[in-house]
Amino acid sequence: MKKIAYLTFSLFSVITFAQEVQTSTVTTVLSTLASDEMKGREIGTPENDNAANYIAKLFKENNLEYCTGNSYLVPFQYKGKTVYNVCGIKKGKTDKYLGFSGHFDHIGTSKKSGDNIYNGADDDASGITTLVGIADYFKNKTPEFSMAFIAFNGEEKGMLGSRAISKDTNLDPIYNNLSALFNFEMVATESQFGKNALFMTGDEFSDLDELFNQNAAGGLKIYPDPYASQQLFYRSDNVSFVKKKIIAHSFSTVDMTKATHYHNESDDVSIVDFNNLTQIINNLGKTLEKLSPKNFTPKYNDKVKFN
Ligand SMILES: [Zn+2]
Repeated sequence: MKKIAYLTFSLFSVITFAQEVQTSTVTTVLSTLASDEMKGREIGTPENDNAANYIAKLFKENNLEYCTGNSYLVPFQYKGKTVYNVCGIKKGKTDKYLGFSGHFDHIGTSKKSGDNIYNGADDDASGITTLVGIADYFKNKTPEFSMAFIAFNGEEKGMLGSRAISKDTNLDPIYNNLSALFNFEMVATESQFGKNALFMTGDEFSDLDELFNQNAAGGLKIYPDPYASQQLFYRSDNVSFVKKKIIAHSFSTVDMTKATHYHNESDDVSIVDFNNLTQIINNLGKTLEKLSPKNFTPKYNDKVKFN
């Protein structure tokens, strides 16, 4: 009897353990994207293609399907070259989608001697790691919402990738059913609200944060944008979807009063709080598990500008 109890207990621990995204996975994904080998992931470089292929590999490992065509890589043109966004989907119990995005490109290298690589660990390897983490969380689960995962390219050159893919009519079956897009931008550090917290740009334009917080698991909380005067809502990749009148906000932890690493060589893995990021990813997963088209249909109010 004791043996059986022990066996049941161990089995249960293994299952519980397996549901959670591991800190080691989060560390591996972020560190690979932010490695010196990726040379700052600038759009148009071979290393940018390598980053896209790496994300596609992670999408495959997490059992995602293609958004369109026969690849996760969704091409567009940049200075006469074919470059890629990366897109994968997870079918849920309903046809309504939630989207998760971030940008995988960064600003390359500088001409300085010494550390001349802009690793972009926070900007925005952390955001890509978050959406990969959510895919990992749901790897062997069927959520109520279907899910779309999009890694944008070319954000640093003027949000080129998000603009291109938002206009790609091959993805209209997803966009026509997209209830909300969560765009993750710089989530590697502790927020000014503490750990296990994110702020949302443009919180005054929709009720997404209120609806999310009503269901939030594990103490995770979404705060209003403390830098609203900087209009970040209109300056991140989410805006390409705002123009389509899709609910789309950016989520971040960056403390603008302290962050000196923005577009600096010092934005590397040494500044990343991996435990906090892992906790946020798992609590996002636990919260998303509770959301369905019945309890989560965020709406814009009339303060938002669509153009
Ligand atoms: Zn960024």
